[in-house]
Amino acid sequence: MEFTLNNNQNPTVVENDVVVSMDYTLTVDGEVVDSSEGSEPIDFLQGYQNIVPGLEKAVYGMKTGESKHVVVSAAEGYGEMDEDAFVEIPRKDFPEDIPLEIGLDLQVRNDDGTAMEATIADVTDDMVKLDFNHPLAGKELLFDIKIVGLRAATEEELEHGHVHGEDYDEEEFEEEFEEIDVENLEEDDEEEA
Ligand code: ZN
Repeated sequence: MEFTLNNNQNPTVVENDVVVSMDYTLTVDGEVVDSSEGSEPIDFLQGYQNIVPGLEKAVYGMKTGESKHVVVSAAEGYGEMDEDAFVEIPRKDFPEDIPLEIGLDLQVRNDDGTAMEATIADVTDDMVKLDFNHPLAGKELLFDIKIVGLRAATEEELEHGHVHGEDYDEEEFEEEFEEIDVENLEEDDEEEA
């Protein structure tokens, strides 16, 4: 008789180091703001903060085919609103072709070339107040999720801390990741994403 340890067993529940395929719908303030419906489920590596903390906590132990309704608080989602993320800028610094309307989304480039998303929060005669909080900061997130697949991560994926799909492009991913990092920095240094 011969015994060998099988390291490639397919995982049966969501746990750390497992690649999870998940259908999801995100509802905020009664409105669907994001959904995998009509497209592919998202793939993420569990235990590496690929998704917001509250959702990552909620999927531990779930099986393929299982559905769940998950309520994630702002603190465990995109963070609380940060008052320090509001910045006042002299109105004269804005180009004339930008309509200064409250609620307008802008891309703001720093002197060092870093691009950030901001929303116009207030306009006075001489000042414009910009809000650099994540658009979903301060919001409770309602996720309707369904686990559609589980597999063991490759060693390379574990090293990188993210999923490598079939049509995966490392450079593109790193770019996306950089943008996300910038947003997180803008939120709150103490809030771990
Ligand atoms: Zn990678």
